[in-house]
Amino acid sequence: MSQTVGVLALQGAFAAHIAILESLGVDTIEVRSAEQLADVDALILPGGESTTVSMLLERFGLLEQLRSRIHDEQLPVFGTCAGMILLAEEILDGRADQHCLKALPMSARRNGYGRQLASFETDLDIDGLDEPFHGIFIRAPTVERIGAGVEVLAKVDGQPVMCRHEAVTVASFHPELSGDARLHKRWLVDAGLIPA
Ligand code: GLN
Repeated sequence: MSQTVGVLALQGAFAAHIAILESLGVDTIEVRSAEQLADVDALILPGGESTTVSMLLERFGLLEQLRSRIHDEQLPVFGTCAGMILLAEEILDGRADQHCLKALPMSARRNGYGRQLASFETDLDIDGLDEPFHGIFIRAPTVERIGAGVEVLAKVDGQPVMCRHEAVTVASFHPELSGDARLHKRWLVDAGLIPA
């Protein structure tokens, strides 16, 4: 049976992720319902507004199911920007009622790059890639703390911007906006969904 990669499509930058996944030849679906979430073999949590996505996950009845797929079934997930915030163990400067999925031992600070650096672009040296990857940061979170077993795959000014912990990969930037499929490909290879 062929494998299906989902992109959580409640709000935010999901369309560009779908386009990149399709360019890699994997079956891809937008996830908005419990049936769709139950069907996927891996899931991207895109950028957007983490407070809104948190509220919509609850409203659509997906929050507990997503927690259980991540914690009990080790569903491979890739969280980008707001998706990274949602996957964190702790959210700093979040809204009091904002949920986090505690998928990896990490604290993320919303809008952690502050007003002046709110959005910026920079070439990143990413562990395992031969050539730099152009990172686009849009009101990105900062990584404030990582726990045992978290691999740091890229840094900006000494601070992690891409990390991996077991089946969970997070990036504080928008890898879907650079016209470069290498990070999606690598995640799919790590998840065992496509050959290396
Ligand atoms: N600042 C947003 C948040 O707190 C994230 C921005 C993004 O995903 N580009 O959720």
